[in-house]
Amino acid sequence: MARAATGIRHAECERDDVTVLLRSRGLRPTKARCRLLAHLLSTKLHPSAEEITGSLRGEGMEVGVATVYQNLNRLVDAGLVRRLSGSDGRSRFDADISAHDHAVCESCGRITDLELEPGVKRALDRATAGEKDLGQWLLTRTSVEVRGLCPECRAH
Ligand SMILES: [Zn+2]
Ligand SMILES: [Zn+2]
Repeated sequence: MARAATGIRHAECERDDVTVLLRSRGLRPTKARCRLLAHLLSTKLHPSAEEITGSLRGEGMEVGVATVYQNLNRLVDAGLVRRLSGSDGRSRFDADISAHDHAVCESCGRITDLELEPGVKRALDRATAGEKDLGQWLLTRTSVEVRGLCPECRAH
């Protein structure tokens, strides 16, 4: 009774901040969406759907890859999660939706955040600002993807 009075708490979602995020994009805070988004907000690993499923199962949640995929798609469509493509063709997911760049491992597809020096970023922005000679395209932003080998693949 007292809980319902807060107006934001949902029986299926233990985290108020995640519930608020989901509701702000018109998504019902189901248990699966809540656990998924909470997990993605807590990691910098840019996991694949399979890896996320493994983690959620490790936390004791009974969930299949199909359900995880379905709910990830809803979160991506709602703009709460970014979909990235790894070099292995598998999608990876990032709950950090701010503008930032990535490094991708050529061997295993792992993705990590990439901090570009401010000078590099500014030069890129200058190079792509406004209308360029690309058939009158209006260029608005750059996104850098650097390829390489992750520490684990380098060790092999
Ligand atoms: Zn790797
Ligand atoms: Zn990222």
